[in-house]
Parts: sequence; C-alpha cells; structure tokens
Amino acid sequence: MSSSTLSYINPSPNSPWGIYLSQVDRVVPYLGDLARWVETLKRPKRALIVDVPIEMDDGAVVHFEGYRVQHNLSRGPGKGGVRFHPDVTLEEVMALSAWMTVKCAAVNLPYGGAKGGIRVDPGKLSQKELERVTRRYTSEIGLIIGPLSDIPAPDVNTNAQIMAWMMDTYSMNVGGTATGVVTGKPLHLGGSLGRVKATGRGVFVTGREAARRHGLELRGARVAVQGFGNVGSSAAELFAEAGAKIVAVQDHTGTLVNDKGFDVAGLVAYARREGGIAGFKGGEAIGEEAFWGAPCDILIPAALEGQLTAERARRVQARMVLEGANGPTVPEADDILAERGVLVVPDVICNAGGVTVSYFEWVQDFSSFFWDEEEINERLDRIMMNGLNHIWDKADRHKIPLRTATYAVACERILMARKERGLYP
Ligand code: GLU
Repeated sequence: MSSSTLSYINPSPNSPWGIYLSQVDRVVPYLGDLARWVETLKRPKRALIVDVPIEMDDGAVVHFEGYRVQHNLSRGPGKGGVRFHPDVTLEEVMALSAWMTVKCAAVNLPYGGAKGGIRVDPGKLSQKELERVTRRYTSEIGLIIGPLSDIPAPDVNTNAQIMAWMMDTYSMNVGGTATGVVTGKPLHLGGSLGRVKATGRGVFVTGREAARRHGLELRGARVAVQGFGNVGSSAAELFAEAGAKIVAVQDHTGTLVNDKGFDVAGLVAYARREGGIAGFKGGEAIGEEAFWGAPCDILIPAALEGQLTAERARRVQARMVLEGANGPTVPEADDILAERGVLVVPDVICNAGGVTVSYFEWVQDFSSFFWDEEEINERLDRIMMNGLNHIWDKADRHKIPLRTATYAVACERILMARKERGLYP
C-alpha cells in the first residue's frame, strides 16, 4: 500500500522521471522475490531544494534555485554530478539521481546514486559570478554532502575549476582539506589522470564491444554524434582513431554533416574556441531535425534527456545507438528501435566510464597514492567490459533488451543490499 500527494508519483511519461519509472516497471518481472522492495526505487531517499542568492558584478542581488537529490544510499555513499542549466528542475535531478543509482550498481561500484543542479545559464555569468554561485550552492548543500555521504562531480556545464571551488568551500566550512568530497577535480588538487575523457572512453569501449557482437566493422563505420561537449567530443575522437568516420554532429549551436568524415581534431579545437560547432568550415550545415535521419551506422546521443522521441526513432538509420547522455531515449522510442533491429547500449552502462574514474579518484584521494594513466585506463576498460559482458549474458538468457538486462543486474544488487540492511528504525 502506498499513497502520496507528491506530483512526481504520476509524472508525464516522457519527462525524465516518467522515463525512469517506466524503465523500472519493465524490470519488475525479472526481480523475483526482490520485487517486494521495488517501491524503494520509485522515490528518492532525500531531496534538498536550496536558495542560492549571489551579488552580481553590477551590485544586483539575484536568486537561483539549486537542488541535491540522494536517490538511494543502500550500496554506499551517494554519487553523481552537478549540472548548471537554465532548464534544470527538481524532477529532472530526481531522475538523474536515480540513473546514477542504477549506473553505479550496473558496474558494481560501491555507491548509491545522487545528483545536483542549479537552474542557471552559466554562459550569462562572469567567472566571478560563477564562482559565487558555486560556492554558495556548495555551502547550502554542505548539510548533506561529504566524502563518506555524498560525492558530487562534473556534469552538463560544470568542470574541474567548479569542482575545485566546491572542494575548497566544503573544506573551509569543515576546517580541513577534504579532497574526497568531490571528484573531477584538477590534477594537483587530488584529481585523477584520465577523468576528463573517461565518459567518452567508456562509450567507445562499450561501443566497440557491442559493434563486434553486432557484426559491425568499426573501420569505416559512419558515426553521428549529438552533443559535442566533453562526452560527445571525446567519444568522437576515439571512434575516429579506431578508423570510423564522424559524418554528422549536432550541438546547441547547429548541425553539420560531412560524408567523408570530419577532421575531428579541428572540429574539437573550433568548438572549444567558439563555444559551439556552428560556422565550422569542414562540413555542411543542415536543419536540426534532419540530424536524426542522417545516414550512419552508429548514433551517439550525448546531449540531454528525452532527445530520441518515437517520431525520431522511426527515422534513425543507424544499426546501433550508444547512449552517451543520461536518459536520451523515451520508452516508446526504445520499443520502436527494438522492432527495427537497432541495438541500444543504454546510458546506465554506456556512459558509466565517468563515474568509474570518479571512483578511482575517490579511492586515490583516500589513500593519498596516485596511479598512472595506463593503470587507470586499463582498470576502466576492465570494469566496463566485465559490466557489459555480464549484462549481455543476462539479456541473452532472458531474451530481453540490453536496457532491461542492465536494470535487472543493477536493481538486483541494489534491492539485495536494501533487503540485507533491513528497515531501521
Ligand atoms: N555526471 C557523470 C554521470 O552522469 C559522472 C558522475 C560522477 O562522476 O559522479 O555519470
């Protein structure tokens, strides 16, 4: 029996939380007796809304809204990024925190899931204003974060500098230097080698294995990438290095195609300098919607949630979708892609490379002993491959899509921990 007045119990189906709940519903038949605990996954353990007032450079006082949600802490401290975006909502952060729970369990990291965000357009802030927003937000969520309780990291529009400010603010408030409170920090502040490119690397490693199993040759394969931030650009670089051709790219500034394959290094440098891909001379600009029907073999959505709608899924030409973003595919589109024989490697395994190297960073901070990049990449590849292979076996055994199999593996781990810990008080 459960009853609630909370609006997020009945969200709209294509909202991030709605997408997440329907993904959980699909796994229930595979949970056996653990299904008794499934309600645990359908509500966040704890959600904090904070007011973030700052003084702007011109003297005005402006208020932003911030959130930190701890979805589940059964398997360990909360883990998950912080997103700065004008469209961030509590419901979105809830879904993102839940996907972190599933992701950490899917690759068997000893973490629960959490996520944070501020409803702000960081492009409209000066560097000083950005620092003030970050520090005030960190102070406010200081109530619930900590190296043993909840560890933030970068996500959309946040980076190593922002993590440095978060680490410093938390440390000043507790009166010590707590490097382990956030991951994705700069290298000389306890950051880890390999962290910046880790998510893209994980997309590539899982994609390469999925391609092999799906009978798709990477050399010469045509790749389309949506989102050209940290994840999309790093993945594009690795696919290009492996001999694939990046033939379509879309970001918030525009959509470009090039049948012969982009000069990826040139495009990355251009996008970094100009703040987006629009205007890059090495490709032809096309309309936004045409991106989804662009001829390609591999499609990598690496931007925001809910991008791959049912209508777009019908036009996808790729044989394989690699979810670099969190929650890019709505459930109806998932079904359409499955019917059309398009393999989807779901976010909760495909983009788990970032949080995996975050875990390495946290472990290194605790032991104050740092590994070389080769060791990090080797361990990362091994964790990603073991995770994917285990999930693939489950999918084969039950004849279910990879997403449902990933949820089955992950939710079993989460709910087993939940059951074994029991209810207290
Ligand atoms: N923001 C990344 C994600 O969505 C990484 C989170 C982390 O490193 O904690 O997986």
